[in-house]
Amino acid sequence: MSDKSFHPPPRLLMGPGPSNVPQRVLDAGARPTIGHLDPAFMEFMDEVKDLLRWVFRTSNDLTMPVSGPGTAGMEACFANLLEPGDTALICRNGVFGQRMVEMVERIGAHAIVVDDEWGRAVDPQKVEDALAANPATKLLAFVHAETSTGAQSDGETLAALARAHGCLSLMDCVTSLGGIPVEIDAWGVDAAYSGTQKCLSAPPGLSPVTLSEAAVTRIRERRTPVQSWFMDFRLVMNYWGSEGRRSYHHTAPVNALYGLHESLLLLREEGLEAAWQRHATLSRVLRGRLEAIGLEYLVPVEERLPQLNTLRIPAAVDDAAGRLSLLQDHGIEIGAGLGPLAGLVWRIGLMGDSCRQSSVDRCADALSAVLKLPAEATA
Ligand SMILES: *Cc1c(COP(=O)(O)O)cnc(C)c1O
Repeated sequence: MSDKSFHPPPRLLMGPGPSNVPQRVLDAGARPTIGHLDPAFMEFMDEVKDLLRWVFRTSNDLTMPVSGPGTAGMEACFANLLEPGDTALICRNGVFGQRMVEMVERIGAHAIVVDDEWGRAVDPQKVEDALAANPATKLLAFVHAETSTGAQSDGETLAALARAHGCLSLMDCVTSLGGIPVEIDAWGVDAAYSGTQKCLSAPPGLSPVTLSEAAVTRIRERRTPVQSWFMDFRLVMNYWGSEGRRSYHHTAPVNALYGLHESLLLLREEGLEAAWQRHATLSRVLRGRLEAIGLEYLVPVEERLPQLNTLRIPAAVDDAAGRLSLLQDHGIEIGAGLGPLAGLVWRIGLMGDSCRQSSVDRCADALSAVLKLPAEATA
């Protein structure tokens, strides 16, 4: 056992999350802890909720950070919106769609799965056919930005299909929020959850969620209590809700919330559209550099996420050795392939504060060294 404090090594985080956290956000998280029922903290909670409504582009009253990582927000949404015996249609085109299926089944609900190839967007036609064939479907769930593959699906079209077929929509926007347009109200999405550690560039551990009135009504009209006490939104609402009826539910992660708040202020200073533009522009710059050293993308160009770039590993290159060299020799973390893509692809994130011209340059230079190509080829 060591008695020394832990000092993390300097890293440029260019994987599937977490992304680098700006100093201002780290400093905010280091401010003194106060009581989570302190009137000053309650006022602060209201500000956090307002900022989340702003970033989600919604006026949904029930908008709050779930105390837990993105997976907690995901599970909380399913646990609240589904009851045992309900039918949910799940779009599966990567790891996170598969995780959704497992959550639905654990609730005792029935999952109808619409599969698409890993590396492709969800096909709206297949979803429409499945909704038409399964009129009892109560919830359509899909991943807007599949971080396991780098594919972007059409949230607006999928939410409209759910509405047209009389079911609620649930959108995973863990990786999309802050990186590409997410329009909860304009698209008519009923429920969405995100995470702090991807394009928001706050430390991991919180999951912003937002629910429409129709989704809240669904929860209020449940015949059975939510199986998880901790995740029961009817209880959490009394804690995060306004109108002075706030009561103890659990102890909010006070300092993590300071960090989220500061990261949202930074995003406001930059402007949401400007942040989307930065991700789009720098992913094009990265693409030019990577294609120049002979790397190929997994996802067709019109379905690609700017913030998560999935490249095929050249046959002559060893996956693990390449990533280890990037980390140890260059201080850069990128992501490995998952599931059927393990060993076949690298995932290069350009998320939030990690999405900088300097990151693109460092990453392309390091990759060309790792691929044993002359650096001039990338200049
Ligand atoms: C990262 C991620 C999650 C899970 O978030 P955690 O904070 O790791 O629990 C869920 N969905 C998508 C699309 C993600 O990228």
